[in-house]
This record gives sequence, structure tokens and C-alpha cells, in this order.
Amino acid sequence: MQGTVSRMMRIACMFCLLSLFSCSAGMEKDFAVWTDGYALPADKEIELGGENSVYNVYRPGVTFEDALLLPVEQNTYARVENISHIMIHFMSAIICHPDDPFNIPYIQENFYQSGASVHYVIGRNGTIYRMVNESYVAWHAGKGSWEGKESYTNRMNHYAVGIELLGIGSQRDMSIMMSGEYYESIDPSYIGFTEEQYVSLAALVEDICARHDIPKDRSHVLGHQDYTSRKTDPGELFDWTKIGLPPNAPEVDEP
Ligand SMILES: [Zn+2]
Repeated sequence: MQGTVSRMMRIACMFCLLSLFSCSAGMEKDFAVWTDGYALPADKEIELGGENSVYNVYRPGVTFEDALLLPVEQNTYARVENISHIMIHFMSAIICHPDDPFNIPYIQENFYQSGASVHYVIGRNGTIYRMVNESYVAWHAGKGSWEGKESYTNRMNHYAVGIELLGIGSQRDMSIMMSGEYYESIDPSYIGFTEEQYVSLAALVEDICARHDIPKDRSHVLGHQDYTSRKTDPGELFDWTKIGLPPNAPEVDEP
């Protein structure tokens, strides 16, 4: 039963429930030096840097952590398309680490082991962790379609910057990943998103839109759930208005 559920969830939630990968893959992976020269310390404590980050320089009040870049050859791919979209997600390690679901080394380890990736992760206190340089494709969108345009079908990773908020959705959002009973056992403080996360996300979205000349609207800033009905993130608890956007993606007639 456990194995079947685990396999099912892996298929169904390739990305947004990365905890499953560490459940089965074990934690023995040795963290060597990444391609970019960054490494996780052996004791897996977060090495706070950030003094030189563009976000600390240009966005006072937003902490930026850059010690966690994922290995290029495993988790990313050189970008050939121009960046034109931003995709927002949520994730956690709640299944494997119910008492510490937002622990960044767990999150990073799951990316490392699954081969999935994302450009930015925003922690509960608003810290922005960069995991992949924007100049590389990250693997976070999966299959889907957007505004009926063929170039985006199953290829949104090539166009999008991916952002994960560490958080847990509503019971309905999470029902594709866990039972109602399990959901009831989750610490309520883990559910939804923090004000600090919204502040950081708003700053990050503004910054990405400005740097890549992306219109800041719901045609260009989308949720994973807008791209594919298989997903429920960032979910019904996410308040788009807090980052200056309307809740609903624009209605577009499919060709
Ligand atoms: Zn997602």
C-alpha cells in the first residue's frame, strides 16, 4: 500500500511534493561541491552569505541567500528562449519531515535527488534562496499549456522563472497529495503563507519583471495550477492581490 501510494504520488506530484523523493531515496547522498563552486557544508547548516546579492543591495529588507545553487549538469539546462513568464508554486517536506517541513537543506536535498529544480525558494521568514541561476532552465512546470500557444505547451520551463513558496495549501489543495486525516495532523501555523513571504515575493516579481521586461499581469505571472489541472499550487489560500495581481488568470479561447 505504502509503495503503491508513494509511486502514485511520485507520478502525480512530480514536483510539488518533493518530500516523497527523500522518503524513498534515503538521505545518504553525499553533498560534494556543486558545479558552480557552491557546497552545502557537511553538517548541512545553512551558510548565510548574501552580502553581495543583488537583492540585499537593491531591495533593503529582503534577505537573499545564495549558498544553495543546485548542480547545473543534474538539475538545469542552458536556456535558449527569452524569459517571458514567472510561475508561482508552493512546496514543503511535510510527508517526510512533518515536524520541520520547511527546513532548507531538506528542500534542497529533495531537489538534488529528484532532479527537479526551481530558481527561487521563499522561506517562511521571507528569505529568498536562489537555487538556479535565471540563465538556466529549471524543471518545475512539467506538462501543461498556456493561452493556447503551442510554444508553451509542455515547454513553459524554457520561458519561465520558477518561484516556490514554502507553505502548505488548503485541505482541498492538498487532497491530491494526502488524506484528510493526515492534513488534520498538520500544525496550523504551517498552512498558508506569511506576510514576510508576500513582501519578498512582491519584490522578487517586480525585480524579475523589470529585468526581463515582462508585463506584470496574470498573463505573464501564473500559478502552476493555471498551467495544468494536475496541480493545485499556489492554491486557494494564496492571495494574488498581495503581490498586486488579480486572483484569476485571464480567460483565453483555446484555438
Ligand atoms: Zn508547482
